[in-house]
Amino acid sequence: MNVHDSERIAGLLLDAGYAAALEGSTPDLVVFNTCAVRENADNKLYGNLSFLAPLKKNNPNFQIAVGGCMAQKDQDSIIKRAPYVDVVFGTHNIGSLPALLERARIEEESQVEIKESLEHFPSTLPVRRHSAFSAWVSISVGCNNTCTFCIVPALRGVEKDRPSVDILKEVRALVEQGVVEITLLGQNVNAYGVNFGERGAFAKLIREVGTIDGLERLRFMSPHPRDFTQDVIEAMAETKAAMPHLHMPLQSGSDRILQAMRRSYRRDRYLGIIEDVRKAMPDAGITTDIIVGFPGETEEDFEQTLDIVRQARFTAAYTFQYSKRPGTPAATMPDQIADDVMADRYTRLHKLQQEMSGAINRDSVGKSFEVLITDHEGRHDAQRSRMNGRTPDFRLVHVDTNEARPGDIAEVTITESSPNFMVGTANSIRKTRGGDAHDARVKEVGSTAIMVGMPTLAKLKSL
Ligand code: SF4
Repeated sequence: MNVHDSERIAGLLLDAGYAAALEGSTPDLVVFNTCAVRENADNKLYGNLSFLAPLKKNNPNFQIAVGGCMAQKDQDSIIKRAPYVDVVFGTHNIGSLPALLERARIEEESQVEIKESLEHFPSTLPVRRHSAFSAWVSISVGCNNTCTFCIVPALRGVEKDRPSVDILKEVRALVEQGVVEITLLGQNVNAYGVNFGERGAFAKLIREVGTIDGLERLRFMSPHPRDFTQDVIEAMAETKAAMPHLHMPLQSGSDRILQAMRRSYRRDRYLGIIEDVRKAMPDAGITTDIIVGFPGETEEDFEQTLDIVRQARFTAAYTFQYSKRPGTPAATMPDQIADDVMADRYTRLHKLQQEMSGAINRDSVGKSFEVLITDHEGRHDAQRSRMNGRTPDFRLVHVDTNEARPGDIAEVTITESSPNFMVGTANSIRKTRGGDAHDARVKEVGSTAIMVGMPTLAKLKSL
């Protein structure tokens, strides 16, 4: 969600006359689009801001803006801690950024503007997409759930669904521009339709998007197990473009902890959904998010999580140590888990998932998959070029090929595997309009400028 918002921020700035700073040049503006889901992200912001403070002294026109969930949460305190920040803007008004920068320049004063609710559905804002062949499309923003560990509803507000005609229009326009892969985005995608009182709206949307000619791959994230319905599974199985991949957050394998998290499904229901998905799509890859060390989690509860990981055979799990977010109910729950216990559980869970992922990838050696090439893996010379790509079930493959461009689809036989990726040889390459769109983008902006907009800490330190 934040990555897509960053694409909108880039689009707004380009529309306002800004140009992307090329690698090696010093920018006149740095925008931080922050996340508040974990405490670590909070701490990182102030570290990053302090790297930039000296630049203000050398260049009085240099501006810094902070947006996103942390800005929404901390509002005035950002300016108190870092008075050299020019603009603080919230999650509901990213469209105001160019005007706020202008005002800060004219009035020579920091501008803080946070709105408590959404002004326009963000998709009406211009977008500068990171990829020419793969795009995010928002179908809803906000969330009506109240998971006790989560700060998102407080910062992003209640769910707001976007009319399906607008979604379809955006997807059609993107496909016309050469996009071959679409990921439908929402905090809880299968609640989509709640605003219009339309049950089954998400399954219908999958089918409708799937009919758009030229779309090769359709994905979505993230569903909530509570709202997952059989018709979504049927729509996935029957829609050719819908990829056999489901990313469905588990969070805990213990019913007691799920209840304390206010996640209103139980382990049997979760496993039941997976079983139904595999019945309809035997090759489906399932990925998940898991939190360890939620307040009150006992060794027995944790064992239940390990047990579900063994049963579910996730291709990957994004595992997190519980992070206390002030303002959420879980932050004041008794029996907060000690750091060393949490770290130990995290290590054990990670080790088990690595074994599971390793076994699944090992089983794929000798098999062939259609791989959408995404980018260069790093090794790139006249003789040999190694590219990254994704299988239909979203596993990462390194492919040796001199012919495939990002956006093309290669038929790849897997030769080696590890828990986190596989290696394969391309038997054939299907050039797609996605590859053409990528080539056109490189010609237009140069390959390095495509990355601008996602600065790394190393880049900031080098400024
Ligand atoms: S479903 Fe729960 S975890 Fe996900 S955004 Fe909503 S409240 Fe947060």
